[in-house]
Amino acid sequence: MGKSGKRTREYLNYIGGKWVAAASGKRIADRNPADREEVIGWFPDSDERDVNEAVRAAREAFPEWSATPAPKRAEYLWKAANLLIEKKQEFARDMTREMGKVLKEAGGDVQEAIDTAQYIYGEGRRMFGVVTPSELRNKFNLAYRRPVGVVGVISPWNFPMAIPMWKIAPALVCGNTVVFKPSMYVPLSAHHLVEVFEAVGLPPGVLNLVHGSGSRAGEAIIRHPGVDLISFTGSTESGRHILEVCAHGIKKVSVELGGKNPIIVLDDADEDLVVEGVLWGAFGTTGQRCTATSRLILQKGIAPRVMDLLVERVKNLRLGDGLDPRTDVGPLINEDQLKRVESYVKTGIKEGARLVVGGKVARKGSLAKGYFFEPTIFTDVKREMTLWREEIFGPVLSVAEIETAEEAIELANDTRYGLSSSVYTNDIARAFQAIESLEAGITYVNAPTIGAEVHLPFGGVKETGNGHREGAAFTLLEIFSEWKTVYIDYSGRLQKAQGID
Ligand code: NAP
Ligand code: MG
Repeated sequence: MGKSGKRTREYLNYIGGKWVAAASGKRIADRNPADREEVIGWFPDSDERDVNEAVRAAREAFPEWSATPAPKRAEYLWKAANLLIEKKQEFARDMTREMGKVLKEAGGDVQEAIDTAQYIYGEGRRMFGVVTPSELRNKFNLAYRRPVGVVGVISPWNFPMAIPMWKIAPALVCGNTVVFKPSMYVPLSAHHLVEVFEAVGLPPGVLNLVHGSGSRAGEAIIRHPGVDLISFTGSTESGRHILEVCAHGIKKVSVELGGKNPIIVLDDADEDLVVEGVLWGAFGTTGQRCTATSRLILQKGIAPRVMDLLVERVKNLRLGDGLDPRTDVGPLINEDQLKRVESYVKTGIKEGARLVVGGKVARKGSLAKGYFFEPTIFTDVKREMTLWREEIFGPVLSVAEIETAEEAIELANDTRYGLSSSVYTNDIARAFQAIESLEAGITYVNAPTIGAEVHLPFGGVKETGNGHREGAAFTLLEIFSEWKTVYIDYSGRLQKAQGID
């Protein structure tokens, strides 16, 4: 029974156009992180057997789907976008209930799915290839895009609708079929997304949904020989494992992984602008963004003013249920994440960093029901400390001071990650130096490390990924299609090209 006394709904997998239970008969609870007693729904605990069925359905649907003209395939995305627009508020509320982020941000997540679907819709009529001159007479050269096959989409919990759509939309328009395993912490948003595609008439088997854990359902997808490509977003640990598994089958794989994103603030920056940016970058989505600001590098002259303003503002951030419009910062996703953040804070103190605000699990009043952690700032964080090096994925900001812009960049780059980065300065030369030398896929100037727009490349360098970029305009070219190169000789005789091939 749910809290309201109503029976808690039992959800199903979607395989070959039918809603079906998991073979195991087992189920997983989807809980509200703002109130751990509230079970939002029960979802299938799928394993290899369900994945086998889903891959079979996806393979069966592939010939017809890949032969469907791309503009026709794209129409489903347009219709899906329209239905998402209609349902945006309802889906955002459900997302906040299962994931915890404040309602406005959840609305932004649904909007990003809409924006992606709308952009990719246009790709159905573009999907440009290349036509080149030939070395020879009466010969025509071109290269165009073919689908890869069956795509395994494996997504994290922090962007429950946006990230799946980043992957599913381009996969579909390119003519692939999909087996989708969402994070088991946000299955309802995945259910809504798949129901939208069902409602707009996407043919059976083209998009299949298998709920369950990474260790069973996810593992079965990455190991299945009938899956041609894995598109994964999640932690660097899982990503490394997936790359290893996929290497055996030479399976194509794209991984978008963790970050340890710095904001550099130079002395000439506008401190009010800095403080607004840091608050949003570090504590938006409770710090649970791959692009979250987790390191703040302050030049000595501006540091005291920024810290005074920042600490004051952080003290006043309001923790609470994301559905409450007064809430600034929602809960963490689950108990594990709460313990993880708590343990990083303890390590930080032990290693000698200075805790200036926050640092505790929040238990006041109704907060005790959920996984709330106080927005936290450490200063005097040294580069060898755990706080500075590891992705915490929570509301914890580490601050260090430096003397020069050069030092700032060197310190910013001293990390195994390379997703997002930012510099605050009004000096145009300094800004360009930072853009050029920050080792990150994304650099913001006078804005925090978060806030990607869907039509630009998204992804990172170093251990943040394996070199691909997502973002509507790029992902389908880089990940979800294969080149077919075609030479058409209409000379009527054997002509030999100059090269050795
Ligand atoms: P995660 O633990 O790596 O999980 C991501 C997904 O992979 C989940 O669906 C998970 O399943 C599944 N999974 C886990 N182990 C697997 C395995 N052995 N085989 C197949 N699938 C497996 O990451 P998360 O905790 O959900 O998300 C947080 C992380 O994602 C952070 O590190 C963050 O930086 C990163 N992230 C990166 C980006 C980016 O674009 N660079 C964007 C957002 C988030 P279950 O969890 O359901 O068991
Ligand atoms: Mg949940």
